[in-house]
Amino acid sequence: MKTKLRAILILSALLVNFFLFAQKEDSLTIRKIYENALLCDTGYNNLYYLTKKIGPRLAGTPQSLAAVDWAYHAMKNLGCDTAYLQETTVARWIRGDVEICNITSTKFGELKTKVCALGGSVGTPKGGILADVIEVKTFDELKTLGEKNIKGKIVFFNRAMDPTEINPFYAYGKAVDQRGHGAKEAAKYGAVGVIIRTLSLTNNDFPHTGVLRYDEKIVKIPAAAISTNDAEILSKWLKQDSALKMFFEMYCKYDGEAKSYNVIGEIKGSEKPNEIITVGGHLDSWDITPGANDDGAGCIHSMDVIRIFKSLKIKPKHTIRTVLFMDEELNQRGGGTYAETVKKENEKMIVALESDEGGAMPIGFSVDANSEIVEAVKQWEPLLKPYGLYEFSKGWGGVDIDPLKKQGIPLIGLTINAQRYFEYHHAQNDTFETVNKRELQMGGAAFASLIYLIDKYDFEKK
Ligand SMILES: [Zn+2]
Repeated sequence: MKTKLRAILILSALLVNFFLFAQKEDSLTIRKIYENALLCDTGYNNLYYLTKKIGPRLAGTPQSLAAVDWAYHAMKNLGCDTAYLQETTVARWIRGDVEICNITSTKFGELKTKVCALGGSVGTPKGGILADVIEVKTFDELKTLGEKNIKGKIVFFNRAMDPTEINPFYAYGKAVDQRGHGAKEAAKYGAVGVIIRTLSLTNNDFPHTGVLRYDEKIVKIPAAAISTNDAEILSKWLKQDSALKMFFEMYCKYDGEAKSYNVIGEIKGSEKPNEIITVGGHLDSWDITPGANDDGAGCIHSMDVIRIFKSLKIKPKHTIRTVLFMDEELNQRGGGTYAETVKKENEKMIVALESDEGGAMPIGFSVDANSEIVEAVKQWEPLLKPYGLYEFSKGWGGVDIDPLKKQGIPLIGLTINAQRYFEYHHAQNDTFETVNKRELQMGGAAFASLIYLIDKYDFEKK
């Protein structure tokens, strides 16, 4: 009995030592990953090229193909084992050269608003629309007002993002229905057009675009966003002059389809090359913005995983695959094609990660998977907390990786401090200058650290 007890004690001590040793090794490797990221300008320089030399890159445009070509070569230069393009087909949407929304009030004069069509919107008839305006905040309000008050008018959706929400993504979630579904809801009551207040927590002069969805059974009416400053003025004028007129003209349209590509780079797994870890961001941006935060930064974070692993000579057991997805903003065809290919090729994907919350300071990971996987990720908190990563929660993965969920693949999103994200989301001012080099480097390091742990432990408890 005594001998047995001693044996158990010795074994326990050995195991504890082993775990402590493993933890020390992990903490040293993570430290090296951060040092490597913080001493390297490659990602920041790549973001400069993508946003300054290529710029706006909506799927289906020549600029988006220039981004594909650039990303393919940039990926190769990082030293990945394979880089290739995965073909997809995207719908082309063109903004057109006319975008006018002018308000005329006999009481206040004229206001030429800062306006941009919502992505996917139809244009106005040639010569534009001149109509009365009716302000609403909710779809219920539309219903109450009914056709007699709405028919022939332009509906102005003016529900601001809630500034008291601590997480700006929640505030966005509570307001985005106006952009996504406002046009089809207003059309049900005979509206001739829709103007929305830009989805932003900041009052300024930048209108933000973003996709809208029509219902094929309901007449399609044009929709655009005006800046938050202009929305404030319009609302104020309407209160005292309900007879004011709006002139609204734009020529955007869908225009056929085009061939496009996801850009992929891989490090082959040393032990289980057929088991894959996907990490990605989306290469496309809206046409009015260089998209530094949305989602240039996510592409750089994902490419940096390859660069860091290669540079530190970390040999992953599983294949690490960086995917720069095409067409996240309009119709998510790149993400769709990727998931279809994974299924068709019967690939074993152990996890897919995405960064699409901007280039600011990463604060943790949001895990869209069963509770065992969530717990497995949470156990690494002590190793990652010293680097500012403290939010480990069950939540959302990402738009591009979401189609993989149907195949039972665990998804993880990089959570970023988003307090400033909606200042520039989908707008002209989402520029290179808004991204801080150090914060960008921390994003790549956060991804590389988590992937190092997942690869080593396969999500298993240590
Ligand atoms: Zn995005």
